[in-house]
Parts: sequence; C-alpha cells; structure tokens
Amino acid sequence: MTTTSDSIQALRQLDTQSHLHAYTNAQAHAEQGPLVVVRGHGVEVEDDQGRRYIEGMSGLWCASLGFSHPRLAEAGAQALRTLPYYHTFNHRSNPAVAQLAAKLLALAPVPMARVFFANSGSEANDSAVKMVWYHFNALGQPGKKKIIARQRGYHGVTVASASLTGLPGNHADFDLPLPRMLHVDCPHHWRNALPGESEEAFATRLADALDARIQAEGPDTVAAFIAEPVMGAGGVIVPPATYFEKIQAVLKKHDVLLIADEVICGFGRTGAMWGSQTFGLKPDILTCAKALSSGYVPISAVMVNERIHASLMANSGRLGTFGHGYTYSGHPVACAVALETLQVYEDDHILDRVQALSPRFLAALRHFGERAVVGEARGVGLIGALELAPDKSGKTAFPPAAKAGPRLAQLALEEGLVVRAMGDTIALCPPLIITEAELDELFARLGRAFDRFEAEVATLTA
Ligand code: PMP
Repeated sequence: MTTTSDSIQALRQLDTQSHLHAYTNAQAHAEQGPLVVVRGHGVEVEDDQGRRYIEGMSGLWCASLGFSHPRLAEAGAQALRTLPYYHTFNHRSNPAVAQLAAKLLALAPVPMARVFFANSGSEANDSAVKMVWYHFNALGQPGKKKIIARQRGYHGVTVASASLTGLPGNHADFDLPLPRMLHVDCPHHWRNALPGESEEAFATRLADALDARIQAEGPDTVAAFIAEPVMGAGGVIVPPATYFEKIQAVLKKHDVLLIADEVICGFGRTGAMWGSQTFGLKPDILTCAKALSSGYVPISAVMVNERIHASLMANSGRLGTFGHGYTYSGHPVACAVALETLQVYEDDHILDRVQALSPRFLAALRHFGERAVVGEARGVGLIGALELAPDKSGKTAFPPAAKAGPRLAQLALEEGLVVRAMGDTIALCPPLIITEAELDELFARLGRAFDRFEAEVATLTA
C-alpha cells in the first residue's frame, strides 16, 4: 500500500464519509477522522504514517499471539485453499470443526459434553441464553426463564447479550434490557464495600443479596446466572476473595445454572487456561471467543455440560430439530486458525509464560497505584487496570466533563502505546507473547503519559 500523504488523506476521507464505526462518537469522528492501522509487528501495530504503537490491549482483549504470527497466517491460508467454506447444519461437518470441538472439551475446566460454534462473544452469549430457555422448556419448566447478570458486566451487544450487559450506555438508547434479564451488584470491593468491610464480608453481603433477589423473584422463575470471572469492559473488576464460592452456593440452593463468560478470561489471560480455574467457577455453560483464534478470525464457542446437552437431545423441539445455528457456525477457516492458535499456546508454553511474567506486570501496576492520580491498581495474570481518581478512598472521581480517562489514553497514544479508557479506568491487556523488555517499554511509555497527565491535572480539576 502506498502511503503518500494524498493517498492517506483520500483513505481517511473514504472512512469518514462511508463507514459507520463501532462504538464511536459520530460527531467527533467526523471532525477528527480515523486512526488507520495498516500492519502488525509482534506486539506492535503500525498506522498509515508509519508510527508504531505497543498494543497494550491486544486490540480488543483478543490478539493474544500479537499481530503477525506466521503459523496462524499459514493455517488460515491453507484452510482457504482446501475448503474455504462449508456449514454445519443438517449433519454436515468438516475436519477442523470436529477436531476443535474435541480439543475444547479436552481443555474445559469442568466436564463438558458438547461445543456449539458462533462468530462472536455476543452470539455465543445469545446462544447460551437460548439454550437455557430451550433447556427449561424441554424439562417442562417454562416459567424458569429469568437470567441474572451483574451491574458493569459485559456480555455483548446483540439484543439478548446487550440486555445481560450491565452498562447504562448499552441499555438506555436501545429500550433494553429485555424483560426477564435482571442485574445484581457489581463485586468491586474498592468502590462498593462499606467502610472497613473485608473482601470476605463484602462477598457474603453480595451473595446474601443474590439469595434475597432470587427468593423475591421466585426461584422457579430464575434460570441462570451469568458472570465473567474477571469483569473486563466494566472496568477489569477482579472478584473479591470467596465471592464465587458464596455465589455458587446460592445458585446451587435454588437450582440456578451458571454461565461463565470466558470471552476475555479464556486461554491463559488470568494465568490458568480459564478464569473459571483461577476463581473456582464450575459452570454449566461456558462461552469463549477472542483468544480462541487470537482474534485473527471471528469465532466463538459455547460449551454445555451433560445436563444441558441431555435436554437438547431429549427434546427435538417444535421444528423437530435444535432450531438454532449460524451460516458460519463451525466455519472451516475459522476453526483451522483456532486449532492452530491452541496448538501454539501449547507449543510455546503460553501458560508458563503468563505465570512467569504476571508478577512483573502486577508489580508495575502497583507501582503506578502509588501515583496521586491513581485511586486503585488491580489485576491478575496479564490483565489489569488503573483507576484514575483524585484520591484513594474509592468514593471520589474526577469530574466527568474532565474526561480524565480518555485524556490519559490519548497521551499514551502520543507516547506510542495503546491503552483503553473505560470512563476513568485505564485497562491493560497486552498480548500474552509480550517479552519482559517489551513489558518494561510499555510501562515506560505509560509512565511518560502519566507524567504529562499529572502536569495537566490541576487544569482538569479546576
Ligand atoms: N463477553 C465479554 C466478556 C466480552 O468482553 C465481550 C467483548 N468485549 C463480549 C462478550 C462480546 O463479544 P463480541 O464483541 O465478540 O460480540
């Protein structure tokens, strides 16, 4: 691709005049135009002017093997040459989808019976909801349909998954959530604990509140509870000690299914293969996506345990079949890239790498946590966040109009580092292949961005 300034300008114009962007302020976009990314190099991406950035977010929490892995490119090319498309409706299969399903079952954190494929995290969660509804219809319990999610949880943007997402921006403008989708408290200890309340006591309080909510709704109306092991887009909320143990005891008591949304946590991000292993979840249904293919091709999966599988089998439904599936469910190219991704994780000992690097990552985050403008530093494995706040009480925030988070992210970009601002929370989720030296460079750039931010803070708060 040529990169003369004329062609760069022409391309940017095409974008602003033709492309409706995902999650972008349309007016601001018309004014400032796109950041056009043209190439990937390991943990870095390069823009149309040849500037390189360390991708501190693996794109959208997904490019675990960085942006130029040759084995994934080769697996995709090979699959495109062999069988570029086929579907999985009506008994059809292909070698890659069968192998990938078996591989995922072998990796699952708890015994799982079958794997269903889709193309995105949203579709996986949507499918999980439909499977839960189908399950209770098949069991002759049509009233057991409510799904409980959490404030600040993120589960996607399709109508059902956006309903599960617990962020106001995904609901208010879209007449969501759907009925039967409920939200309970966010387990963010630093923000939401009572003065002096320990993590354990906070977890007990949240589990008691869940119990009370299920009792109030009627246990025979509540079908499932969905949770990310670590909340991602809601602010990288690491659950407090004993939280999932206590929540699961409540679910068990009321025969409520657990859906683990492993779309971010899956495949090593928290230092184990699954966030469910790091935090002791025993899900009936597990959804995953993103790092399943290192983000290189769209693919997601839903694993179901024998309990769910048995009812999908037993009840052939009104269509005489399980009436759900996508044109691209089990796409042979996506499955081939995913299979190769999982093989690279194994061959390159990716879990060992994450475990070895995590202490350095978390220590650097804690170091940033000492800065006056950081309220809380938190993380696990190779995912973390720095929450900007005027002090460390957990009760204050910069004025929203100051847009402190987006400003910090912009300064980081100018320093050659991509981070994500979710409000005033700065998230980090670097590729799992990042080296010690690259990680140190990431934090050096972030440090320069923070230095500049701190110099501006007086004006932000004035
Ligand atoms: N679940 C979680 C935990 C996610 O982080 C995301 C995306 N960030 C989704 C679901 C939705 O995935 P997608 O954007 O692929 O639909």
